[in-house]
Amino acid sequence: MELQKYIERFKVTETPFYFYDIDLLKETFSEASAQISTIPNSTLHFAVKANDNATILRYANEYGFGIDAVSGGEILKAVEAGIPGNRIVFAGVGKTDREILIGIDHDIMCFNAESVPEIDIINKLAAQRNKTARIALRINPNVDAHTHKNITTGLEENKFGIALDDMVDVIRRIQALPHVSYHGLHFHIGSQVLEFDCFVQLCHKINEIQDRLEALGIQTQSINVGGGLGVDYEDPMGHPVADFKGYFQTFREHLRLRPGQSFHCELGRALTAQYGALISRVVYVKQAKRKQFAILDAGFTDLMRPSLYQAHHKALNLTSDGKAETYDLVGPICESTDVFGQDETLPATRRGDLIALLSAGAYGHVMASTYNSRPLVGEITSEDIVL
Ligand SMILES: *Cc1c(COP(=O)(O)O)cnc(C)c1O
Repeated sequence: MELQKYIERFKVTETPFYFYDIDLLKETFSEASAQISTIPNSTLHFAVKANDNATILRYANEYGFGIDAVSGGEILKAVEAGIPGNRIVFAGVGKTDREILIGIDHDIMCFNAESVPEIDIINKLAAQRNKTARIALRINPNVDAHTHKNITTGLEENKFGIALDDMVDVIRRIQALPHVSYHGLHFHIGSQVLEFDCFVQLCHKINEIQDRLEALGIQTQSINVGGGLGVDYEDPMGHPVADFKGYFQTFREHLRLRPGQSFHCELGRALTAQYGALISRVVYVKQAKRKQFAILDAGFTDLMRPSLYQAHHKALNLTSDGKAETYDLVGPICESTDVFGQDETLPATRRGDLIALLSAGAYGHVMASTYNSRPLVGEITSEDIVL
């Protein structure tokens, strides 16, 4: 990711703000697009919950991506960016009537349904519109993604999806209802997954499930393997683009798609993390007894991942080349979890220096809040800057 190139603009922009490097976005999107195209009949759905910036959505559309939405608001943002309904899938355990109607009215590709009561309501609302809504069943495959416990979603104890044991009954129920149709199977085992063994296991599970459904004469049109491909948070400059090649190769080699079946995945983090940075200023450097603190004007209201799940973002001082020293990097918010890093090595840091927190393009701005009556953090892209 290029940052120094834009430094003169950064110096005069009010901090904190998110910066997105569109050159790296294009490199990322091209690579993802090239790699998924090795699987026939495939669609990459961008998980818009990772980043709903309008420019990024516009590029997602340009590269032919679909959208994975988890709320009615996300469907509307995708539609506004020009993405057609037939490339949108809609997941979530608590879809409200209003949100379901947004999906029905935009003729989305399918609802990734997570419970029987939800399917009954989709049927009822589709009847009101005199339509038939396509349903993919979100199956909880009980595969461990070996990631942080707060972002594991495919275990029996998680709230997501329908248990394998209930799957056939639920499909029969969908087939019996007049305003929904059974379209496919959906899975999502977790996020920031770097060991592809979990995806191999997922493929084996899906293969078994497909054999079982076929034996019962149940036809499945689409297989959606969800998202979860991780990125390198410790060395973002060394690995600016996620391993799309290895990821899609895993599915190409291990997933037995049936003739005519479509393949779908829903990547969020891997499509956005590495070309985003949160740019902030050092307000004070404070010497404590055993530590020195660099206190930033950015806090967890702007980037919540560190306080939400102990995530770590690599920090760079963009405006100092002094001798390396050790700092705790903290925000200004009145909560002790407002810490970005402990014992970070940075060049000698002073008040006014610009600090970049890297890999912040996914689950960054979308989680920002105005807690402490702070203004909502802004966003700029490299396209907004004339060099
Ligand atoms: C969050 C989410 C994704 C995207 O996950 P990433 O780890 O960002 O790729 C995909 N599908 C569903 C259903 C999700 O909830």
